[in-house]
Amino acid sequence: TCLGIDAGGTLVKFAYEKQGTLAFHKIPSARMDTAAAWIQEHFPDAQLCITGGKSSLLQSLLQRSAHTIVEFEATCLGAQHLLEGQEKTAQGYILTNVGTGTSIHCVQGTEHRRIGGTGVGGGTIVGLSWLLTGRSDFKEIVELSRQGERDRIDLKVSHIYEGMEPPIPGDLTASNFGHVLQDTGPKRAEDMLASVIGLVGETVSSVSVHAAGQCGVESVVYIGTSFVDNELLREVVARYTRLRGSEPVFMTNGEFSGAIGALLSN
Ligand code: ATP
Ligand code: MG
Repeated sequence: TCLGIDAGGTLVKFAYEKQGTLAFHKIPSARMDTAAAWIQEHFPDAQLCITGGKSSLLQSLLQRSAHTIVEFEATCLGAQHLLEGQEKTAQGYILTNVGTGTSIHCVQGTEHRRIGGTGVGGGTIVGLSWLLTGRSDFKEIVELSRQGERDRIDLKVSHIYEGMEPPIPGDLTASNFGHVLQDTGPKRAEDMLASVIGLVGETVSSVSVHAAGQCGVESVVYIGTSFVDNELLREVVARYTRLRGSEPVFMTNGEFSGAIGALLSN
């Protein structure tokens, strides 16, 4: 047997075969000793295939030989596996991985190249949320953000073009957090959290749509644990991606792409 491991900046992801289908597991990278113990307990004899920025750290705790793969190679391979048969992405696509940070790839056939990224990602969601509201639990942030209103915090194009027809859709954000000093009303924690998610979602989708133009493809496939059970982020990203002319794609288990790619590389 074989275990695919993606040791990321925030979470260690595992992918393995169980009764003919793929099975998955996650452990926080901050508890790398727990991750190592989990591997020793459940996969004492398996061939280990590791990728991700924390792979050396994990390996140093394992005292076992392992096969390592380049992160981007593994991520693209795993994503391609999950996309098998999808018509939307047959002509090539942008792969945007919103992990701790955000990494953007252009995939065409078996070719792929990294075309950039942004430091605005999942780490920004939890970091900014903590600074603004004192909350750092991802689940709690996501739940609260759903009840938030961005209007008092973010400045829309329609806020600037008061009483006249704007030259671009009035619903686009003109300035993330740009309404804070102009709107004197109260700002609730849930509003700030919704705006943090808005900032991250709009940034990653804007950069992705530019990448799609540069790469000459229509679809953007979004992966990364930042999207998991985070309907607001998916909504913001889907809406912005469409508004700017590309087609968004989200995949079940997309956050395990790196681990799946590592498993398949064996
Ligand atoms: P990178 O690829 O940048 O090295 P990573 O692979 O660890 O990082 P992901 O697991 O794809 O990144 O995503 C991490 C992000 O997912 C966090 O920054 C956070 O916003 C979000 N997240 C979702 N669930 C959790 C969780 N249970 N614990 C921590 N972060 C979570
Ligand atoms: Mg990652």
